[in-house]
Amino acid sequence: MSSLSVGVVKESAPGERRVALVPEVVGRVFGAGFDVLVEAGAGSAAWFPDGAYAEAGAAIVTRDDLFARADVVLTVGQPDADTPASLHAGQTLVGLLQPLRNPAAMGALAAAGVTAVSLDGLPRTLSRAQAMDALTSQANVAGYKAVLVAADAYARYFPMLMTAAGTVRPAEVLVLGAGVAGLAAIGTAHRLGALVRGYDVRPQARGEIESLGASFLDLAGVASGAGQGGYARDLTVDELLAQQEALAAAVARHDVVITTAQVPGRHPPLLVTEKTIKMMRSGSVIVDLAASALGGNAELSVPGATVVTDNGVTVIGADNLPSEIPSAASTVYARNILALLEYLSHDGRFSIDTTDEIQAGIVITHDGRVVHPAIAELVAEPKDGS
Ligand code: NAD
Repeated sequence: MSSLSVGVVKESAPGERRVALVPEVVGRVFGAGFDVLVEAGAGSAAWFPDGAYAEAGAAIVTRDDLFARADVVLTVGQPDADTPASLHAGQTLVGLLQPLRNPAAMGALAAAGVTAVSLDGLPRTLSRAQAMDALTSQANVAGYKAVLVAADAYARYFPMLMTAAGTVRPAEVLVLGAGVAGLAAIGTAHRLGALVRGYDVRPQARGEIESLGASFLDLAGVASGAGQGGYARDLTVDELLAQQEALAAAVARHDVVITTAQVPGRHPPLLVTEKTIKMMRSGSVIVDLAASALGGNAELSVPGATVVTDNGVTVIGADNLPSEIPSAASTVYARNILALLEYLSHDGRFSIDTTDEIQAGIVITHDGRVVHPAIAELVAEPKDGS
């Protein structure tokens, strides 16, 4: 029986520098029973040249060849509009496909007979799923990089310094949202010597923030927002307004604010309003990891852009930080993909079984249908992605 082949595409989203498989993981993908095809130039933006893949045993092919021959197409980001037409029935597409934001693309993949597997829906609290948890691996990278981006834009030191020219006070950094990215940011800012505070609407985050050497920002009059599965729930409009109000003074007294708050499947909550940004000191920096076309955590953030306000606040819409540290992000992503390939394949074949708890979360389309119930509902009744 011939082996299944996996194909690694060159990402097509503007500015995307990551790649789904890196040379050091290619050998292990062979070991799992797959042949490996790599589109020419797929890894070059992440500093993985074609030659390194070829040395690891992969075949370097054109994009057309890859779509024609690969049984499993590996990608990082969501498919572009041409992808469903490039794929054929029986193929599997694996990536962070953002099906909640792209139900129409999922419908098109189902119609093309493609099995779409999206790591966004992984049940992350299951310990057997953790090696495949690409949301966590990418959020860790993003949180780290957010601090470097902030430190670069901030015109002063992060650490406290005692010098012959006197004492330099440390930067005061506030991290809003203490999930995976927020905790990575808190740890990194603390290691750089800043005075760090963290806040999350889930009260459970307090212990995690404090264990990293930061203090928890207590906000009076804000409801607990713990939801299902360790995630936050969507706050009501009144709760969100109360939160914005309570956050305003705290945000304004910090030099650097890094925002990472998300609620799965919903628009990011607006935590830092324009009015609050106007209260901040000149030279302050906001890095908004939630910046997106659907809005972000900071009112003035523009995804992929840096805005300097009239009162001298730099607002960075950091919508894809993992792509700015592409070698590290791709390496951990590739390990997640390897774990997924190992999980889904048996005796050289892919076995799709949506009664399995993990597969029920990640298999979006199969056998010509959208099999994931939440996505099927969106495909049937298109909404605005919220
Ligand atoms: P996320 O990206 O969905 O959200 C980031 C953070 O924003 C969360 O901590 C959330 O509580 C917070 N948030 C949402 N609305 C907010 C608001 N209005 N104000 C302030 N903060 C707000 O979260 P994530 O990073 O994917 O992690 C979510 C949870 O899953 C965490 O509890 C994390 O520890 C847990 N998790 C567990 C595992 C595991 O068990 N292996 C793996 C990954 C994540």
